Amino acid sequence: MKTMKAVVFRGRDRIEVEEVPKPTPRAGEAVIRITTTTICGTDVHIVRGEYPVRPGLVLGHEPVGVVDELGPGLDGLYSVGQRVIVGAITPCGQCFYCLNGVHSQCGGGLGGWRFGNTINGAWAEYVLVPDARANLAPIPAGLADEDVLLCPDVFSTGLAGAESGSIRVGDAVAVFAQGPIGLCATVGAKLKGASLIIGIDSNNERLAAARRLGANVTLNPADGDPVAEIKRLTDGRGVDVAIEALGRQETFENALRAIRPGGTLSSLGVYSGKLVAPYEAFYAGLGDQKIVTTLCPGGKERMRRLMAMVENRRVDLTPLVTHRFALDQIHEAFDLFSRQRDGVLKVALSPDAAHVGTGRERVAHGAADELC
Ligand SMILES: [Zn+2]
Ligand SMILES: [Zn+2]
Repeated sequence: MKTMKAVVFRGRDRIEVEEVPKPTPRAGEAVIRITTTTICGTDVHIVRGEYPVRPGLVLGHEPVGVVDELGPGLDGLYSVGQRVIVGAITPCGQCFYCLNGVHSQCGGGLGGWRFGNTINGAWAEYVLVPDARANLAPIPAGLADEDVLLCPDVFSTGLAGAESGSIRVGDAVAVFAQGPIGLCATVGAKLKGASLIIGIDSNNERLAAARRLGANVTLNPADGDPVAEIKRLTDGRGVDVAIEALGRQETFENALRAIRPGGTLSSLGVYSGKLVAPYEAFYAGLGDQKIVTTLCPGGKERMRRLMAMVENRRVDLTPLVTHRFALDQIHEAFDLFSRQRDGVLKVALSPDAAHVGTGRERVAHGAADELC
């Protein structure tokens, strides 16, 4: 039996680099050799025991790699050696939920999220991709791994926050929290044509990144009540759309208080415990507000669209990749990321130590004076 190196969840606060069986594809499945992957805030929740997965599972849900082996039924669709990404969410494309257009809920609540949740994930030399025909997305020629590393999850999720909020040209938008997802929501608000984009975070480095990525105004709650400032900036009304990108009572409540009557709260955060909506922020339930929630959209067509935005220079997310490690250095990388040390936004992980950092190489597109 062939084996491979993988990062295995062994229980709360325990991840280990181990040799595990290399997967073999069955009909409709593919095996990808991972060249670059990354760590997500959700992985931190898992390792800390705040989101349950079974011990023994390979973690990680953001694969960039090369087709290594194809199961039966994929002839002529893909070829071994082809560079691909796969979304964090891998819908089947055929079930009740997929055919009702909610692909992320494939098979039932959160069911589209399989990698590093219900099946082995991408922190490994190889990953098995289910329903490959719906999920393998070829990387456009000329794009490096790090150009597309954020497409499987963070860019898809953050942008979806702006899309689900139905931002219209000229809208005023507030984005609560400017971690990687919040920053991508800020990018999304800009792409959707918001006029005023207000980024909120308690970390000034992240606020600086928000300004570079499209926020006109940034607010640090340590300097004063962000809701009062948002009202002041919007003639007392509040924003048209607020995006919540942290998953805490405080940010949810502030986002609700920040929207105008008839406005939309677009929620991306992962919450735990009970979430409370104070009646006055909720206009006692009569404010014509909308609250929408979104799980990262996946599938190969979503990935194609996101990579087309990168390829055509509508966005450049590489400034969010701040650190690089070999997969063997997972403990060091995880510690840095989970403690938000050294200005980290996203880390690139490479199973092949010789590949570390090479994912940065890219075809020159000419000078870009803005990040996106
Ligand atoms: Zn994630
Ligand atoms: Zn499905």
